[in-house]
Amino acid sequence: MSRPVIWWVRRDMRLTDNEALCAALEAGPVIPLFIYETRSESLGAAPRWRLKRALEAFSEALSEKGSKLVLRRGAALDVLRDVIAESGATQVHWGRLYDPASRRIDSDIKKTLRADGVQAHSHIGHILHEPMSVKTQTGDFYKVFTPFWRNIQSADVAFPKNNPKSLPQPEGWPTSECLNDWAIASDMYRGADVLARYSTAGEAAAWQKLYDFLEERAVTYKAARDRLAENGTSDLSDNLAYGEISPRTIWHLGQKAIASGAQGLEPFLRQIAWRDFAHHLMYHTPHMLQENWREGWDNFPWNEDTESSAVMAWKMGTTGIDFVDAAMRELWVTGKMHNRARMVVASYLTKHMMVHWRVGEQWFADQLIDYDPANNAMGWQWVAGSGPDAAPYFRVFNPDTQLEKFDPKRAYFSRWVAEGQVEPPQTALDFFDAIPKQAQLSSQDTRPKPIVRLKEGRERALAAYSAK
Ligand SMILES: Cc1cc2nc3c(=O)[nH]c(=O)nc-3n(C[C@H](O)[C@H](O)[C@H](O)COP(=O)(O)OP(=O)(O)OC[C@H]3O[C@@H](n4cnc5c(N)ncnc54)[C@H](O)[C@@H]3O)c2cc1C
Repeated sequence: MSRPVIWWVRRDMRLTDNEALCAALEAGPVIPLFIYETRSESLGAAPRWRLKRALEAFSEALSEKGSKLVLRRGAALDVLRDVIAESGATQVHWGRLYDPASRRIDSDIKKTLRADGVQAHSHIGHILHEPMSVKTQTGDFYKVFTPFWRNIQSADVAFPKNNPKSLPQPEGWPTSECLNDWAIASDMYRGADVLARYSTAGEAAAWQKLYDFLEERAVTYKAARDRLAENGTSDLSDNLAYGEISPRTIWHLGQKAIASGAQGLEPFLRQIAWRDFAHHLMYHTPHMLQENWREGWDNFPWNEDTESSAVMAWKMGTTGIDFVDAAMRELWVTGKMHNRARMVVASYLTKHMMVHWRVGEQWFADQLIDYDPANNAMGWQWVAGSGPDAAPYFRVFNPDTQLEKFDPKRAYFSRWVAEGQVEPPQTALDFFDAIPKQAQLSSQDTRPKPIVRLKEGRERALAAYSAK
């Protein structure tokens, strides 16, 4: 029997369209390995909770193929070397990640393993086109989405790889740790039970969501994606974040549907391309994860106090601004937030409240089950005005008029804010089970007064912008 091959699983937790898996399978019996690295440990509470769900679902999918997921904790290189020594593996394959820390680790690992005499290969990750392969006519990277999108539309997207029928096992398995011992989700506390009611994990669930969306909702996506109370979008963001479905699969199924006459898919595929664009920007300008993409914003008088009473009110959904409070509560309960709501709460924080986008970015990084460093940083900088191709700073969303326009019957607001309702729905009540008890909030409270009035906040933000 040939020597085993390690398939190092990171954020590509799927069997269909997985280049690293296919390459490993060609080389020999496969040992799927997940390493709980220090970096994963520093993820926020909700993403770590979701990671655990992804690992559970993926372990199950592997056992259905006669294989299993080996779990180990530690520094990636040390663990890989240990598992190579234990198993006699001669090759390691993995899917690339495009953030600066992963790129550094990848290149160190490749160098060291190759020096050890082990073949180490990385493959395209969960993306349509790798950031280094998309170039302007002058060979530069794209800073604006529209020309990037034009380029993507005419470029060939590789056809998805098949789901293998089985995964040949090695003669002996390296030891595996126990997922529950890692206590990955321990700091979700009681919020974990609430989140569990609102999300589904795993490759099969992702495919089901995609089929349902293509069959039932794609046709109305363009208009419905902005309507807050409607289930108008694909809801695939957390599955995409953990690589449970590949963007290439989505792209090709979308193209197939378009070819057979389906309407409305282009705006959806455009959003998938926005995700690629975020990764493109993160790869070429990694400072965007922490710093203003445009240096011109470095002296803007944003407040960075993460614990001020105003910021706490924003986090807890008690700003007194209906749209903002509903959206922040949706986040506590579901670990997600409607895209328009993300824009509005980000605008209220960075403009009306004049708080640095980093404060909001970090809160989302802690709370979102679809947290993705590239999408999150791009989204925040886009709204704040400091990013490439950003919304101009003077475009300040008015949360009240946004709510009137996109939630005319106030169904979204009522879904998430219990106060003032005689019989609040379970969704709104779940918020009080998701937040820490010390917050001492209750559905019987009266609605607070706005912490920053809309007119006042807007004028102050615009004055600061003119003085910039
Ligand atoms: C301030 C802010 C922070 C954000 N943080 C994140 C984040 O951490 N993770 C994340 O996945 N998305 C983030 N987004 C983008 C967007 O809000 C979510 O991807 C979207 O709400 C997910 O819902 P869906 O899966 O139903 O999307 P659909 O509308 O069905 O779109 C399909 C997919 O396209 C991608 N996509 C959609 N909109 C965007 C966008 N504006 N930018 C990049 N990709 C997009 C997502 O992967 C999404 O799943 C953020 C947006 C803003 C304004």
